[in-house]
Amino acid sequence: MSSEKKAIAWPQISNRPAVTIPTAHGDVLVQLAQLPDGDLLVITSSYVPDVPVVRFQSSCVFGEGLRALDCDCGVQLDAAVKAICEAGGIITYAWEEGRGLGIAKKLEAIALQEAEGIDTAEAFRKLNCDPEPRTFANHVEALRLVYKGDKAVIGSRNPKKIVALENAGIKIVERVTLETPMTEQREVYLSSKIPALGHFEK
Ligand SMILES: [Zn+2]
Repeated sequence: MSSEKKAIAWPQISNRPAVTIPTAHGDVLVQLAQLPDGDLLVITSSYVPDVPVVRFQSSCVFGEGLRALDCDCGVQLDAAVKAICEAGGIITYAWEEGRGLGIAKKLEAIALQEAEGIDTAEAFRKLNCDPEPRTFANHVEALRLVYKGDKAVIGSRNPKKIVALENAGIKIVERVTLETPMTEQREVYLSSKIPALGHFEK
């Protein structure tokens, strides 16, 4: 070895820099995946496991940034970082506010929810939007830049994410529930996703 530089165990995505971000759960490596439909971050653990924990995360400024009590995006992301630090894995992160419908539609949907006491999926439908328009193809494409294997542990209740992985030839060997601190509002939000979007209860 001619260099003392720390080896990057995961494949490097491009000639963009890979950076190490220290988190409460450990160091993660962050790279940029530049895809035709937009950039994603690929966040990986400091080591490469045989079977990675995989999480597809869509941005949610209220949950992740403001730590809103009625959504679970922030606590889910935190639990996913913990899971990859402990077991090894990959989080793909896309700027997809309102499940990809955009921040403007998201604000409209929240306003409708407040005014009419309806849930998120219902509000999107009232706005003539598909409540789950994401196919996660962009996440799979970003994931494939660093992981060529055929098995994964998934941290999600969303069956569409499982289908997206399986269509890419990645078998889900286990589905883990990311343990997240619950509030009463989060319970209401999460239980609304079960009938509305076919999410698993656990
Ligand atoms: Zn959220």
